[in-house]
Amino acid sequence: MPHVTLVPFTGLRVREKELQKYGVTFPGLVDRAQAIAELPALGLLTLAGMLPRDWTCSYRPYANSSEELLESVLADSPSLVAVSALTASVKEAYSFSLQIRGYGIPVVLGGLHATACSEEARPFCNSVVIGEGEAVWHQVLADCEQGNLQPTYSSFTGSRKLSWPTPKFDLIPHDPPRFTLQTQRGCPLACEFCGASRLLGPFREKPVANIRQELQAIGALADDPIVELADDNTFVGSRQPEEFFQAFSDADVRYFTETDWRIGTRRKLPRGLASSGCVQVLVGIESLVFRYPGMGRKAAELQQMMDAVHAIQDAGVAVNGCFIVGAEGETRESIDRLVAFILESPFAEVQLTLQTPFPETELYRRLQREQRLIPARDWSYYTLFDVTFEPDRMSVQELEQAFFAALAQVYSAEATRRRNIIRKDVWKRHPRFKTRRRS
Ligand code: SF4
Repeated sequence: MPHVTLVPFTGLRVREKELQKYGVTFPGLVDRAQAIAELPALGLLTLAGMLPRDWTCSYRPYANSSEELLESVLADSPSLVAVSALTASVKEAYSFSLQIRGYGIPVVLGGLHATACSEEARPFCNSVVIGEGEAVWHQVLADCEQGNLQPTYSSFTGSRKLSWPTPKFDLIPHDPPRFTLQTQRGCPLACEFCGASRLLGPFREKPVANIRQELQAIGALADDPIVELADDNTFVGSRQPEEFFQAFSDADVRYFTETDWRIGTRRKLPRGLASSGCVQVLVGIESLVFRYPGMGRKAAELQQMMDAVHAIQDAGVAVNGCFIVGAEGETRESIDRLVAFILESPFAEVQLTLQTPFPETELYRRLQREQRLIPARDWSYYTLFDVTFEPDRMSVQELEQAFFAALAQVYSAEATRRRNIIRKDVWKRHPRFKTRRRS
């Protein structure tokens, strides 16, 4: 029976040693990094969910070392290895793929980075998948069985109807029970820095019937599961939220998602969100000094966004405020102002990262045109914590130092404790937690 081994190179990469040199220990950030690293790679699990009956599969995420990973993959004796990688980890993925090919095993490489940089990826594998793997997966497997893998498979040619197959959630160990689920793909907005919003295809929403199926599959595997929605912007489309909320409410899960601040202005939405089991939303406030092109109605005055944040948290849903450091016009003073704002802000959680020009984004193209990308900083620097371009009002070193100083303050033990208190306070208003406390 043919066997495919699925290998994700995802998760958050933090050059911890570099940061530690600057005295950044950031316990809150490490927790978040770990939580992200533990999230399963939904793309590969979805491909596993649509395997033909005569194929078997295994899922081998990077654990302790590349040697261990290689050993475990070779032990599967696979007919094919499917690798997905994010930009910061793509060098590791390339070197792993070459090693696997050295054993005569074909490798197919896909994901956001391979889609953006397919020419770059080609020498490291037998085939590159461009766009959505689901659209071409059966062809890849059939060609593999014939020993006739093509150099490229693209979901952008031919029919692109998406059938939303249910991911094979049982491939991953769940302790604690943490799952990812996607309810929509892409985003109709086009923020200049955003790589995920349209690279794999246009914006689409998953039918609620399919979401229910996936929630059932998750419910069959774990009691009280935690679900992270791998959405780009959950409520940005035209879907009516009631049916969506009912599906989550019926499944009785706790979930986290990403959305934009405008949900706080929609009557009934924050309360519906809380009642359906959502405990936290990540909301991009982005930059306090620069309005990125492409944000559409998401670009607004800070006060308007903060009113929305209050409305969401009043309903019992914690808000993770997401900020980018290093946009155009950033200076040491503006970073200090941002830190002061965050330390006094009502956010239950905060995500602070550096502006990063991921390949194929408008931001990347602009900085490339302006010759501001730093050639010596390869993809392994695209971690969200390393400077990869020449800022317009600071030197690279100044931005680096100011960012590390900001991280040290925003993720200090005291600031983290303050946010924990806010979060507990917000959750006291959450209908699900109120019910649980009574029962
Ligand atoms: S709103 Fe969010 S998901 Fe949509 S384009 Fe902007 S950053 Fe990307």
